Amino acid sequence: MENTDLVLFENPHFIIDMMYARENNMTGRPVYMEIGYGNKAYVHKNVAQKLLSLIPVLEEKQYKMRICDAYRPPIAHQKLLEIIPRAGFFAATPMRSNHCHGTAVDVCLTDINGNNLDYPTQIDAYEDKYRKQVADGNFDEFFVHLKKARHDYTEATDLQIENRDFLKKLMESHGFSSIEHEWWHYNISDFANYPMVQWENEL
Ligand SMILES: [Zn+2]
Repeated sequence: MENTDLVLFENPHFIIDMMYARENNMTGRPVYMEIGYGNKAYVHKNVAQKLLSLIPVLEEKQYKMRICDAYRPPIAHQKLLEIIPRAGFFAATPMRSNHCHGTAVDVCLTDINGNNLDYPTQIDAYEDKYRKQVADGNFDEFFVHLKKARHDYTEATDLQIENRDFLKKLMESHGFSSIEHEWWHYNISDFANYPMVQWENEL
């Protein structure tokens, strides 16, 4: 990695579970393993600081936070784009993805044993049946399903909505911004001030 302000984020209150380091993600491939990056959560030091500020709440509520994506090497983003070459699925270029700047995280809360709380969808709206459809080039059902990932989706159960809204309130009160179409995605709002970070097969 270049000489940057990114730091490796590790803390017992957080579960590092990068979805693109495993096969059960929408691409069906462990892209972070394929490029030699692995299951690591690098973030800009300002993001790390905001995540650490969540700890008193996590302790009080007896929760942990699962991090399913953080910094994403641009070469990994490029690979994701090649595997699913469909506009609107991933940011059009690494430059446009918060993740490639180290300023975004994809997260959910879990109980103290690491079981995800109940949300309207999985992170990334992942489900194996949609992954298979998408691999076949059929996006129709998945795009309908994606509506459930929005913050304004109201057809979920009360508990799912409560958990989604709690996460949003928590993250926003600790300096993160949300985006309306992905309940799991949080970033620092002025990410344009943070450069994209290259990663070249070594740290
Ligand atoms: Zn994200």
